[in-house]
Amino acid sequence: MVPGRCLSKKGLRCDPPTFEHPSRRSERWSKLSSKGRRKKSSKVKRRQWDPAKFAEDAAPLVASALGLDSLGLSEDEYVELLRDIIVGLVGDRVTKPKPENIIKNIRRNESRIMSIIAFKLLEVVPEGKLTPEQYEFVAANIGPLVIPVAQRLYKEAKRLGLDVTPLQGAWEEGWRLRGDPGPVGYCPNCGFRAVAPDGSCMVCGKVLDDKELKEAVEFDAKFEEFLETASCNELKEAFKRGTLYVSHASTSLEPQTKWDVEVFLSKKEREALRSAISRRCQPS
Ligand SMILES: [Zn+2]
Repeated sequence: MVPGRCLSKKGLRCDPPTFEHPSRRSERWSKLSSKGRRKKSSKVKRRQWDPAKFAEDAAPLVASALGLDSLGLSEDEYVELLRDIIVGLVGDRVTKPKPENIIKNIRRNESRIMSIIAFKLLEVVPEGKLTPEQYEFVAANIGPLVIPVAQRLYKEAKRLGLDVTPLQGAWEEGWRLRGDPGPVGYCPNCGFRAVAPDGSCMVCGKVLDDKELKEAVEFDAKFEEFLETASCNELKEAFKRGTLYVSHASTSLEPQTKWDVEVFLSKKEREALRSAISRRCQPS
């Protein structure tokens, strides 16, 4: 073959030029694969160490430096908690870092990485087994990652008799960062803005009755506005259907977002529609 030519499309098993020293070969591929970051280095070598092993060795030191001792985990559990995170921080480094460098890196991105550690802790500790210290740590650090684990954390908090307020704030923040308005109404049981379109709470599981549902989505004020601003056709259609959808901002005949909650109109509300129709619409 021609020296230096790559015959494999994958580029992984290309034979080097026969005259090229293996370390030069490694350098050449490193230059190609590391987007030019190592251009100035002349001593780049292939990684000779195992990042997972490094992470396992560094985990106790990192745990201690981050003040995670209070979580009361076993050594193996600290390794499980931190291994993947440390491996991720090591990235594609060729030279083995010192654990101190990893700690500095975590400190630079503290809230994001502590949030990941809090999330990971919920995998390490089985459901229903969080200690008060572990719950407090998760509640304080989980941040926007709370959304998929809020239901479990709520249960743990209730079991332990601890405050869920930090989780409620994290829940709001999580939706904001997703760029999604999230559920419309606040649950009367757990206080999370977590009323799903089917009228059940995504966090505590409560199924709201009609009255609770209307209160949760602030139906009355939105319905008053509907009575004043909807067209005659809309008023008549609402009267005929007996239901309306409630979004974050208003109520309407059709859902405006995937979070809209359908409510059934009471006799009194249908009467209000009837009187709005007779007041605002020409008899047809
Ligand atoms: Zn709830």
